[in-house]
Amino acid sequence: MTSHHCGAHSNNSENNHDHHGHSHAPSPEKLAAATSEEVAECPVMEGTPVIKAEAEEAGLYRDYQGKRYWLCCEGCGPLFDAAPEEYATSA
Ligand SMILES: [Zn+2]
Repeated sequence: MTSHHCGAHSNNSENNHDHHGHSHAPSPEKLAAATSEEVAECPVMEGTPVIKAEAEEAGLYRDYQGKRYWLCCEGCGPLFDAAPEEYATSA
């Protein structure tokens, strides 16, 4: 743990940063309403929950080696396509 002194140039980008397109993670309400069966984890952005139905509606899924993978956002599609074997869990 480094305690970095960042008073002067603090994250003022928080305020007027326009969140541009990359929407990760469904809304908490939707996640709360979804059962664990309905939610998957994005294989590209590990730890990012994905609501399967929403991903399928948006075309954000891949079928690879008989398994389906749900992606959290459009950015993950090409990444998955580029190296599916890296993202596919062979557990
Ligand atoms: Zn993503």
